[in-house]
Amino acid sequence: MPELPEVETVRRGLAPRLVDHRIVRVLQRRKDLRVPFPGKFAERLEGRRVLGIDRRAKYLLLRLDDGNTLIAHLGMSGRMTLHDAKSASEHPFDRHDHVVLDTDEGWQVRFNDARRFGLMLLEPDAAVAGHKLFKGLGPEPLDETFDGAALAVRLRGKRTPIKAALLDQRTLVGVGNIYACEALFLAGVSPRRSAHTVQGERAERLVKAIKQVLLRSIDDGGSTLRDHVQPGGELGYFQTRFNVYDREGARCPTPGCGRLVRRVVQAGRSTFYCTRCQR
Ligand SMILES: [Zn+2]
Repeated sequence: MPELPEVETVRRGLAPRLVDHRIVRVLQRRKDLRVPFPGKFAERLEGRRVLGIDRRAKYLLLRLDDGNTLIAHLGMSGRMTLHDAKSASEHPFDRHDHVVLDTDEGWQVRFNDARRFGLMLLEPDAAVAGHKLFKGLGPEPLDETFDGAALAVRLRGKRTPIKAALLDQRTLVGVGNIYACEALFLAGVSPRRSAHTVQGERAERLVKAIKQVLLRSIDDGGSTLRDHVQPGGELGYFQTRFNVYDREGARCPTPGCGRLVRRVVQAGRSTFYCTRCQR
């Protein structure tokens, strides 16, 4: 499943081809994804200029020149591929290429989603912040204002394990299973620790670790577990090695630790951690 770094990578890949460009042709190849496309979806997009591309949690927000925002989510398996005229003619549509956008500069963006858990909506700009998809979402982990104190406030009174609290989009957005495991390892915080005890310096350390693992992955161009593809029509960067994630039974990477990475199941998700380095 694309996580925040992958979505951010897609945003960064699309921006130079779409921002300040006009969408001249839209091909909508089916009626729905997770939910139906908005009425007259293609018609409403055609001829629009893209003013900017933002990201909120794992949603891409394309601001259009008619006062509407195209909200896009990649779901479980969604990916955007980018083609120039030559590459588009050499690559016939895949049966899972559901939406195809052509720009005034001759670039083609294809939204491909085999499992169709993705989503595309058109909403007035003013309605986006209050939209039910975004209402109640916690802060962005990479926001400058998001620090240890901000996390600590959100964990106050929470008796769930810190790992589960991190996955809760009301605590903060965009930290999926992989990055929660990796950040907790880096911060030396046990995933089983009760969330409300993560305060003060410990919360500070954890926030620093969250930002670090996300930024490192964004730098790498988005790590990949599934069939995620980077814009450019090429396979994305595959980050195959994590410190603890998916490394059950491997030696803990902390020099001199010597323990083996342990796996437990929390709230139905696998957690990987070191019982010695993480308290
Ligand atoms: Zn260790």
